[in-house]
Order: sequence, then structure tokens, then C-alpha cells
Amino acid sequence: MEIHRLAVLSDNYIFLLHDPQQNVAAVVDPAVATPVLQKLQQLGATLTAIFNTHHHGDHVGGNMTLLEQFPDAIVYGGAEDRGRIPGQQVFLQEGDRVSFAGETGEVFFVPGHTRAHIAYYFPPATDEETGNLFCGDTLFAGGCGRLFEGTPAQMVSSLSKLRALPDATQVWCAHEYTLNNLKFALTVDRHNAELADRYAHVQTARNRSEATIPSVLGVEKRTNPFLRWDDPAIRSAMGSPDPLQTFRKLRGLKDQF
Ligand code: ZN
Ligand code: FE
Repeated sequence: MEIHRLAVLSDNYIFLLHDPQQNVAAVVDPAVATPVLQKLQQLGATLTAIFNTHHHGDHVGGNMTLLEQFPDAIVYGGAEDRGRIPGQQVFLQEGDRVSFAGETGEVFFVPGHTRAHIAYYFPPATDEETGNLFCGDTLFAGGCGRLFEGTPAQMVSSLSKLRALPDATQVWCAHEYTLNNLKFALTVDRHNAELADRYAHVQTARNRSEATIPSVLGVEKRTNPFLRWDDPAIRSAMGSPDPLQTFRKLRGLKDQF
């Protein structure tokens, strides 16, 4: 399975999964249809699946146009998103599995950003490969999604599931927010040398207009404060021994940043 990253709108990414053997493709969170259709044409591939993480327009906006062109494509989304995702046909819950091109993806229910948000994780098919996590607006490189329909407790529980995945996992999040996220991270985690180093690298990449996605989950575990609500350094920076209170404060500060 090849993964193509399409940059669309101001800072969204659409991911196109392509199986060159069978000439089929799947798309994750098609904000818009045109760039996806162009890429499919270029690859000569048929779209067989649309994997949505949540109902926001910048994740589902291309669904119906893609369905017009590829009426047999199956539209997946979270069970709790029933009625909110255009064209949705499959209503997924925690622990459900999806398949594409002979690979099986695991579904995680990760409410917080929205009440229905799900993530898709494709484990490595061989020892040489890494797993791929498509997490929408739940986990970002250096940050996490805003809490529009969920509580800090729900988000901590959701992020705990993602944090439990292997360090080598590639994190395909839906927005290029990394630079600003790391700028914030530095304000709450001043003595983290790996974070400072990462910020410098991301700054260089963004100056060259390079994408910072995918990131690597192990790096997130060590440098993303929103995966470290129980880390002594972050807890002491937030002035609270309590992990949930730490996360709540962190999210509040980021909302004002
Ligand atoms: Zn969203
Ligand atoms: Fe979004």
C-alpha cells in the first residue's frame, strides 16, 4: 500500500491509499474532490473506499462528488456520526475492522474533538514496515484537536489508545499545524532538548514549504505535551499533580495561545 499526501485548502491533508497491483485506491478525509480525482486519474486507479474520521466539512466535503464519479465506493465513518457524514454507508465502532487492498485497519473510537470521531490504524504488514495511523483531528504533530464536542477526560482516554501503539507508527494527521503546536509546546516544556531540536527541524522544513506529516509516534510520545499529561515535567509546569487537571490546563492554555 502506497500513501500519497495531498495538501488542500489552507492547511488540510488528504491521504490517498493506493494499491498498484489491483489499481484501486482509498481516500482518508477528502476535504475536496478535485485534487483526489486528479490524483486517481494520474494513477489510473479506481476509488473503492472513503474513510472519514469525523463529520467536519474540511474532512467530508469531497464525499458526494467522489461518489458521483465512483458510485461503488463505500463510505465509512463513525457510528455516532450517523446523519452527519454525506453518503455514509458503514457505521464503525471501537474494535471494528476495515479492509483495503488486502490490509486490515483497526478502528478506534476517539471522541473529544467531536463526539463521534474515529481513527484508523493499519498495523505493519511485515517486520520491515511501520504501522500507519490516520487520526484526523484527534492527535496532531506536536498537539491535539480542540475540544468542540467532548471533555478533557474523553480526549485523554482517546489519546491513551493512540499512545499505546508502537513507537514506529507513522502518524497521518489531517492538518499542517506542527510549527505552531511546537511553538506552544516549548512554552510548557522548556527543558526538553528533543523538543527544541524538533522545533528547529520543523522550522527549517516549513521555511522550505515542506510537509511535516507524517510524524512518528515515538517522537510524539517524547515531545508532544498532549501525550504527556502524566509526565512529571508537564505536570509540574501546569502546577498540578493530577494528570486530568494537567491536560485540562494544557488544552486551556493552547486555546488561548
Ligand atoms: Zn475537525
Ligand atoms: Fe479539520
